[in-house]
Amino acid sequence: MIAGDRRANSGQVGPVFNVTAGPAGATAATLAAVGQPVLYPYDPDFLHRYANTAELARQAFGTTETPVILQGEAVLGLEAAAASLIRRDDVVLNLVSGIYGKGYGWWARRYAAEVIEVEVPYDSAVPAESVRAALAARPDVTVVAVVHCETPSGTMNDLDAIGPVVADHDALLIVDAVSSFGAAACDFTAWGADLVVVGPQKCLGGPAGLALLHVSDAAWEHMAGNPDAPRASFLSILDWQDAHRVERPFPFTPSVSDVYALHACLEQYLAEGPAAVLARHQSAARAARAGAEALGLELWAADKSICSDAVTALRLPAGVDEREVIARARAESGVMLSGGQGDLAGKVLQIGHMGPSAYALSPVVALTGLGRALRTLGAKADVGAAIEAALTALDDDDPVPSS
Ligand SMILES: *Cc1c(COP(=O)(O)O)cnc(C)c1O
Repeated sequence: MIAGDRRANSGQVGPVFNVTAGPAGATAATLAAVGQPVLYPYDPDFLHRYANTAELARQAFGTTETPVILQGEAVLGLEAAAASLIRRDDVVLNLVSGIYGKGYGWWARRYAAEVIEVEVPYDSAVPAESVRAALAARPDVTVVAVVHCETPSGTMNDLDAIGPVVADHDALLIVDAVSSFGAAACDFTAWGADLVVVGPQKCLGGPAGLALLHVSDAAWEHMAGNPDAPRASFLSILDWQDAHRVERPFPFTPSVSDVYALHACLEQYLAEGPAAVLARHQSAARAARAGAEALGLELWAADKSICSDAVTALRLPAGVDEREVIARARAESGVMLSGGQGDLAGKVLQIGHMGPSAYALSPVVALTGLGRALRTLGAKADVGAAIEAALTALDDDDPVPSS
């Protein structure tokens, strides 16, 4: 969470607390890994490190298939999924509950015969029943795309319910789990998900330079049968299918330092244990939500049951500009919060609790910086009540038994 001293541009002295919607910082072990020598990719040490990274990702995903590592930020994985999987005869059902879902439709339209959408307001989730109805109305749908956690809105779509509906229809399922993996239970196999994209820079606490992909056998088959699937291209997934095998060449030089970082993140994730990582995110999220409400703010999500444990999105009081609050919190408290983009710009503010910022006192620091900024701007904010509420939520979760 602490990004270190930054005196150059902001004028603010002291540590910067990164409590944004990501990238959310990295641990000392991850940063140390990035600092290792940049090896030749065919150095046997690197070949084995790469193979081992893919294997650790497989263990983290709990899948039988070995995940694919694409050499660019998570968006590369999402765009590559559309380019590779969606054939020109596919009809895509795109589920839209926020900015990332909306954006996926634009990619899908580039490749599909037709894209239809189920869209709900950006403070809501797509009900599985709506997916069932849309598929019943259009038996020709062959691919469904959905965002698990809509990060800017801090909301979740219920993949445990949507996955089986899509499987019943025999359609392929593309999932953006970039920010949810680590903060929400993700069972790609039980969902019947065919192509899932995860970002190392969110709840895994890594750098923003790689995309991790779960690809099912059915997805490989569909891609292989797609005459338009990119080859010899940055967008190609097929080119990287066997890159984790030490005897196979890389299509091009992998992002060596980012691979070290991802390896370190996955080692830490597995050593801590998926259940403990989830619990840490849930606990920080509960503290952030309770504290924000006690501060006098409203959750952006229309219903608490769809709130994400990776990020808390908040509605600001009328007349308060989110950009001004963010600038204030950064300048006077060294607290870096994040705000809305696109349709949500100026309307929503986020407190991230992801990876290294998903620890007990992170939300307390975030709420203090946020509350202080609101007060300086003349808005009402009960900082004391917010801290009390956050600590009470943490106490209720306290894993240390009292003697
Ligand atoms: C972070 C994130 C991505 C990656 O996109 P950027 O805008 O480049 O950060 C994709 N999908 C979701 C849901 C994300 O949270």
